[in-house]
Order: sequence, then C-alpha cells, then structure tokens
Amino acid sequence: MIILLSCILSPSKSHSDDDRVTLFGFKTPILCAHRLIFHKPCAGCGLTRSFVSFAHGDIEAAYSYHRLGIPLFILVIIQIPIRLYLLRTGSKGYTSFVKKLIAYPTILVIIALIINWLIYLWQVNFYLT
Ligand SMILES: [Zn+2]
Repeated sequence: MIILLSCILSPSKSHSDDDRVTLFGFKTPILCAHRLIFHKPCAGCGLTRSFVSFAHGDIEAAYSYHRLGIPLFILVIIQIPIRLYLLRTGSKGYTSFVKKLIAYPTILVIIALIINWLIYLWQVNFYLT
C-alpha cells in the first residue's frame, strides 16, 4: 500500500517549507500534528516526500527530504516477501526467526529515527531559536 501510494503521489517540484506532495495536482494536507502546532518538522516529517521521490527515481531529493527515507523504503520493500510468506503459511510460518526478521529492523528504524531527529535538533537549535 505504501509503495503503491508512493508511486501514485507526485513529488514536489520545489524544495521549500510548503513542498507537499500532490495527488492528481492537488496538494495533500499536512497530517503531522507537531508540524501544525510548532511549525517545525518532527522525527518522521519528510518521509512521505522521501518515499515519493525515491519511488519516482529521484534519489538526491529522497535523501534531502529525509536521511532515513531510502533505507526505510527498502525496509518496506523487504517486508513484502515476508508478509507474502506469512499469508501463505499462516500462523505456523510465524517462527521465532520470522519474528526477529520483523522486529529487529523495526526497532532499529525507531532508534535511527530518534537519533536522526536528535541530530537535527542539535544542528538547528530547534526550540531555542
Ligand atoms: Zn511530522
């Protein structure tokens, strides 16, 4: 679903504060509560634009929107065969190895998102300016 949406949505032509992705020419709404309240990005802001840019082959834009967008996109792609395997095998395919295959990358991504955001906050003196 995420991959399909990334392909349907269109990346922004500009790279400004209001560079939301578009769907059939219409800008998508800002869904991030943190961004709406503080007018600053949260740890996950830019991931949609990064996914969309990467799905459209623009690696440079994908990286600039979010440093972790490309690895996260690849992680989502890797989930497809795992989920298809689980659909085929049912609950008996849900072995401890498969559980680790799903859980460890998820934990890694969450930690990476937090560290990435802390680096961002440190770089821009987020709440002090
Ligand atoms: Zn956000």
